[in-house]
Amino acid sequence: MNYVFPIHKIPILSVAGTENVFPVHRIYCVGQNYSKHMHEMGSNPKRDAPFFFSKPADAVIHSESKISYPTKTKNLHHEVELVVAIGEKGKKISKSEALKHVFGYTVGLDLTRRDLQQEAKKKGRPWTIAKGFDHSAPCSVLHKVDDIGFIEKGCITLKVNGEIRQRGDVSEMIWSVPEIISILSGFFELFPGDLIFTGTPSGVGPINKGDKLVGVVEKLTNLEIHIV
Ligand code: MN
Repeated sequence: MNYVFPIHKIPILSVAGTENVFPVHRIYCVGQNYSKHMHEMGSNPKRDAPFFFSKPADAVIHSESKISYPTKTKNLHHEVELVVAIGEKGKKISKSEALKHVFGYTVGLDLTRRDLQQEAKKKGRPWTIAKGFDHSAPCSVLHKVDDIGFIEKGCITLKVNGEIRQRGDVSEMIWSVPEIISILSGFFELFPGDLIFTGTPSGVGPINKGDKLVGVVEKLTNLEIHIV
């Protein structure tokens, strides 16, 4: 059997302190997981079940990349997030077993065409074009749990051109990482290579051509992106 055209390269992330790379399988994202951000998006931070959306695996792009300002939007937004990398498969994972499935963590940006997202929300349409566009999931290098332990707290910030725009603490998540893994794995079987974007703290806002973004989560390597 031959492929009718060469198969696409598997998207990868580097693993800190090694020559190894992490092959990306799927990208899942949690919506509105910090209460201050829910307020700024006009939602009520009741503890409703978390909701999920996804991005294509090849939306990942590594740190220190230049990203072209996407087409079809006049309101590109930054959302800095803690990203969990899955290392062991499982479905219907219990909360108490969830952390065994974590390979490591990185800092990610859930880039969003906010104008298209708002229109989709109004019309009850899917978010694909607002959230899942090319290069919409920049990520830094992965740090293994074996090296840094589990992340349950720690400052998360985003700077644009040196100015702090987003600031929060990972401990302020409405749904914790074990809860997210447990609930998500009730809908999808999780596999090694899956990434889970865990939601963004408040302070989201527009970015423009020429902006330099730095995403920071305590214990992890910064994510640096240049919009061109
Ligand atoms: Mn997000």
